[in-house]
Amino acid sequence: MTDSTNEILSKSGLLANIGQDFYRRGWVLGTSGNFSAVAGQNPLRLLITASGMHKGQLTAERFVQIDATGKVMAGAGRPSDETHLHLALVRQRGAQAVLHTHSVWSTVLSDAFAKQGGIRIAGYEMLKGLAGVRTHEHEEWLPILENSQDMTALAVKLEDTLKTQPQMHGFLLRGHGLYTWGQSISEAQRHVEILEFLLEVTGRTLLI
Ligand SMILES: [Zn+2]
Repeated sequence: MTDSTNEILSKSGLLANIGQDFYRRGWVLGTSGNFSAVAGQNPLRLLITASGMHKGQLTAERFVQIDATGKVMAGAGRPSDETHLHLALVRQRGAQAVLHTHSVWSTVLSDAFAKQGGIRIAGYEMLKGLAGVRTHEHEEWLPILENSQDMTALAVKLEDTLKTQPQMHGFLLRGHGLYTWGQSISEAQRHVEILEFLLEVTGRTLLI
């Protein structure tokens, strides 16, 4: 069932506020990044930022609704180029919201750690902000996938990674940015804040 118009407006409003906030923090400068939230199940309807929109200036009209194949069902514009990654996360993780940023630290570290295939983050109190994590002794593995302009192929690679890394809370695209998700828009927002913090800590620690 698809959410009511009011629920859809409320979700696009929350995502627009997140856009302003993340833009101010330098995580989605220009038209970079994209955001989505589930707006209906059976059949799936996903609210997602239209391609080419400035993330600091989002409004309800800057989103489109797509179905499980990425086809636009409502709204004007083309869905984000990275739609198939969002759909893979909704399908495989049951994500209710997916947020993607292009921050400086995710760009720098995804390249610096590419040979290792991911970044191990352990021992920090902030890890407890990730869903299901109860202690700072948690070890988070943030996989790094090679970037590509072929988003269909990239979505297949992501699905493989999600199968082999059932505990992961996010991943990086090399030289590109961070993806994370949640069981609600606020959980996904928290995950971005936690992972961006941990990436910056990891990066700054390397400089000491
Ligand atoms: Zn991107």
